[in-house]
Amino acid sequence: MRYYSTRDLRREWPMTLDGALSAGLAPDGGLYVPESLPHRGVRDFAGARTLPAIAERLLAPFFSGSLLRDRLREICHEALDLPTPIVPLAGPGVSGPSAVLELFHGPTAAFKDYAARFLATCLAGLRQRDEPVRTVLVATSGDTGGAVAAAFHRRPGFRVVILYPEGRVSPRQAHQLGAFGGNVHCYRVAGTFDDCQRMVKALLADRTQAARFALTSANSISLGRLLPQMAYYAHAALAYLAEGQSPPTVIIPSGNLGNGLAAILAREIGLPLGEIVLATNANPTLSEWHASGRYHGRPSLATLANAMDVGDPSNFERLSWLYAGRDARAAGIRVERVDDDTIEARVREGEAAYGQVWCPHTACAVEAMERLRKQGRSEPMLLVATAHPAKFDSVVDPLVGHAVSPPPALAEILARPSHSLPMAAETGALSTALAALE
Ligand SMILES: *Cc1c(COP(=O)(O)O)cnc(C)c1O
Repeated sequence: MRYYSTRDLRREWPMTLDGALSAGLAPDGGLYVPESLPHRGVRDFAGARTLPAIAERLLAPFFSGSLLRDRLREICHEALDLPTPIVPLAGPGVSGPSAVLELFHGPTAAFKDYAARFLATCLAGLRQRDEPVRTVLVATSGDTGGAVAAAFHRRPGFRVVILYPEGRVSPRQAHQLGAFGGNVHCYRVAGTFDDCQRMVKALLADRTQAARFALTSANSISLGRLLPQMAYYAHAALAYLAEGQSPPTVIIPSGNLGNGLAAILAREIGLPLGEIVLATNANPTLSEWHASGRYHGRPSLATLANAMDVGDPSNFERLSWLYAGRDARAAGIRVERVDDDTIEARVREGEAAYGQVWCPHTACAVEAMERLRKQGRSEPMLLVATAHPAKFDSVVDPLVGHAVSPPPALAEILARPSHSLPMAAETGALSTALAALE
């Protein structure tokens, strides 16, 4: 399988999977996409029940021609051996067959663990013995940084440099980002997430600096994060089928559109999934696109669902590629935008109505689901829980009126001391910091 940049419309610059995984972003600033989408029918998954086994079958065509092809099984088993339970929703607030796909059972209690571990395992597999230490640069609005840090922590041959916007991630997220130590270096930037992302992109695009520090990206634009995220949607789709249920409508808390796009791709490949509903916070870019058909990126707004504070979702470029010449809105994609007051209300009533404490991101999906139910929709709905609520204690605890205890893996990280260094919101400050690490 060959890969092209979304901006290489004449397909002049084919790339291997291994090259695309190592590079992150394409040199022209586009995102890597496969030359074609393979088709996988239900029969291709006969006998595969676990997430790693399903991932292996699903991803095999994408790995044809890769140096990692013969190790795909091992990679899936090492990286994706995490639970992805589907928990039926019950309680007085439930008005139809609804369930939660819990994606917070990884080491940092957010869905980004699945993909970050997969990418790290692939990059470790591609590493040559005599290569210099690679620096994985990551700008984070909270959850990506922790997932990438956990995935590369103590891996020989890699160091992680995390940039996060000071004061704009939850206190527990900030603590977690600085709690790894060792080969993980954490900087709190005096600026916004957009500043952090701009600094990382500028350095990755600077050939001299990228070569000097052996830079690589692990942001959600990386193909190595997009591909494995399809696996849990395949796993869920097959579980519904096995129980004789119709394909579920899938409701996904969305920001940069990596997780949502993975679900859309899984459906395009042939897995039985119904409508895909992208639940956003107050950032209006996607809902405006859905209403008007026009896309306008803009600066991000800060909201209670901070990991979705994205005003110009990078993965939209992949959506445009996928539906080139067609209207994606007609293909079973819907967007529901949710403001902060509604997020608060959904978190506050979660225990009474559903017996669940929602994280602020998942609360957006709950609201989207209830809007559909009000319109009379009665099909099975699968709500994606992207993080554990204890990660957002400063928002959630006051609303539910008690402390939500973190799952064991998160508690273990939070018990460690945390250390971060200040950084100005300038690319020069980042290259100075990198030079100091050598
Ligand atoms: C990153 C994140 C999202 C948004 O995911 P995208 O792939 O950027 O759309 C939603 N919820 C949580 C908890 C996240 O960490």
